[in-house]
Amino acid sequence: MAPELDGLPAAERDVDVSGPVAELLGSVSPRILRRIRLGLRAFELLPFPWRFSRLRLSAREDFLRRMEGSRLGIHHELLLMGKVFATLGYAVVPEVERRIGVEVSCRLADGSRPAPSGPLGDTEPDGEGEECDVVIVGSGAGGAVAAATLAEAGLDVIVLEAGQSFNRENYPDDPLEAITALYRDGGLTIAEGRPQIPIPVGRTVGGTTVVNSGTCFRAPRPVLEDWRDRFGIDWAQGLDPAFAEAEEFLKVTRLDPERMGRNGQLAIEGAAALGASGGPISRNAGNCVQCSSCPLGCEIDAKRGMHVSYLPRAIAAGARLRSGVEARQIVIENGHAQGVRGYTVDGTQSRHIDGFESRRPYVVRARVATVVAGGALGTPELLLRSGLGGRQAGRNLHIHPACWVGARYEEEVRGWDGVMQSYYIDQWEQQRLLLEATFTPLAFGGAWLQGTGREHQQAMLDFGHVGSIGVHLSDESQGRIRLTNDGSLRASYKLTKEDADRLTYGIARAAEIHFAAGATEVYPNIARAGTLTPRKLADFEAESFKPSELRLEAFHPMGTARIAPEAEGVCAPDGSVHGTSDLYVADASLFPTSVGVNPMMTVIAFSQQIAGELAQKRDG
Ligand SMILES: Cc1cc2nc3c(=O)[nH]c(=O)nc-3n(C[C@H](O)[C@H](O)[C@H](O)COP(=O)(O)OP(=O)(O)OC[C@H]3O[C@@H](n4cnc5c(N)ncnc54)[C@H](O)[C@@H]3O)c2cc1C
Ligand code: SF4
Repeated sequence: MAPELDGLPAAERDVDVSGPVAELLGSVSPRILRRIRLGLRAFELLPFPWRFSRLRLSAREDFLRRMEGSRLGIHHELLLMGKVFATLGYAVVPEVERRIGVEVSCRLADGSRPAPSGPLGDTEPDGEGEECDVVIVGSGAGGAVAAATLAEAGLDVIVLEAGQSFNRENYPDDPLEAITALYRDGGLTIAEGRPQIPIPVGRTVGGTTVVNSGTCFRAPRPVLEDWRDRFGIDWAQGLDPAFAEAEEFLKVTRLDPERMGRNGQLAIEGAAALGASGGPISRNAGNCVQCSSCPLGCEIDAKRGMHVSYLPRAIAAGARLRSGVEARQIVIENGHAQGVRGYTVDGTQSRHIDGFESRRPYVVRARVATVVAGGALGTPELLLRSGLGGRQAGRNLHIHPACWVGARYEEEVRGWDGVMQSYYIDQWEQQRLLLEATFTPLAFGGAWLQGTGREHQQAMLDFGHVGSIGVHLSDESQGRIRLTNDGSLRASYKLTKEDADRLTYGIARAAEIHFAAGATEVYPNIARAGTLTPRKLADFEAESFKPSELRLEAFHPMGTARIAPEAEGVCAPDGSVHGTSDLYVADASLFPTSVGVNPMMTVIAFSQQIAGELAQKRDG
């Protein structure tokens, strides 16, 4: 994938790429690993009767070029998989970064750091278990806020988190190690379907908020009205005080266009030229130095993830946090939830690296309630393992499928000198689209660059001239979380033609914005469409693309334990799981439909509402 080019080293010959990637793959679940192995084997055998790895370099380059130009979807899927792994390993090599000119430094200009947040206490699980009023499974946006709300109401709270605890002192320096440590399945969780869609989620103390971009939106009013009218969530429209309180506590501030970085400024210029509505994004990262390292953890705690905001607040109010404990089963006695059974995992690595040998059982008994906040993947996983939640558990998965639309500019963009998400464009809200100027670091976004072999390397060398916009769809398409026979989680998702058409429309709008801002060519991320120039845009719009032709990713899973009447959902409007007592859900799983904007603030507001009501019930 990466021979030698103009100062860029040759992968494997000069720098080790496959070694670190193989280590990362050691952290993924057996099911995902099996699928990756199958894909790699298919890749190897594709040049039948030869084997890919045994071809001469020039023959390999020819073969990859033919795959890129092929009309067969399977070729594109396999090629993309190859590019994802190759770029993940190659782009983080210091020699490569240096040659491309990427400089990332998460330090305040004067070298100082903001004061550390409050302590998280002793997070080591001790003995075989413990007892409390409320046990909360998961420490992300939902779990942390529930913990702070309940602990401050005087309840004795324990938070269990499957991942380990990281902070500004010990985020791994090596990007692949950081991904392994901070994400579930090394960030390689995939929704199976056509297309397959990666859905990375966090697995660490603080959950996905540790690795997210810090973008803060309130749920749109029409969405909340719909949730009230169709799903009986009467309080949905009264969330303004909860949003306001969270915004104040998380120091949510609007980005200053002067400091957001050139990628965002280009989106401003393009949108203004077209008269498209939008605005600078608000973030929970007041002291941000725009280093674009958010997906690997913020070393100066500028981003107020849950591990430096609501969790220390919960601990200060008496809550206990246990990291490296995975809840496996909800304990139900006489119809009442009584806590959870799980196991501990030692060390800083994922359970799949350290294996199950190091685990030991851990039981938490809860006198008052059990709250599940494992995120839209982890919550249905636990409910399904426990045989709870009925037929709807795991269904109704929405993900905000998103497409990266890159563009080449004559001027230097240097997207890494800026925040990842900086400017939103909501002009096409009616079409369920939200566009966000989003710079993606090369390790994650490099696979989207055009070409293979030397051509792809050339695109990498030009990365400093690439601007990008993320096209997010408020999806009507749905997916599902299931457990397979071996107990692993299986996510699937079926993108409808209507949603694929909306996304294609959004890609064309992103292209227009890029061109209006001065881009010379745009990469619509649909292999058959090739590279767009202003002249080709009309032809692109006249084409019809199959859902499987789109290359997408998704960062906002939700809805898998949704609030809806029992026949259609899992939870009642107070967050309680239908058909059970003392069992609640408080995370993104609750959303009845796609929320349409980045979901963290809505998760926080929902969790505060559910936990607040639970605390009141107990008082009453
Ligand atoms: C790269 C990326 C960028 C994003 N950027 C933004 C953004 O800028 N703005 C925004 O609004 N949203 C963003 N999001 C999404 C946002 O972070 C999530 O929607 C939000 O964190 C969801 O909160 P949650 O509580 O539902 O789940 P999470 O925050 O994912 O927390 C769930 C936690 O539960 C733990 N857990 C799961 N199962 C178990 C179990 N059985 N036992 C113990 N622990 C368990 C997990 O390890 C995890 O730590 C982003 C997501 C990603 C992946
Ligand atoms: S919030 Fe993100 S971009 Fe800002 S300093 Fe922290 S890691 Fe860097």
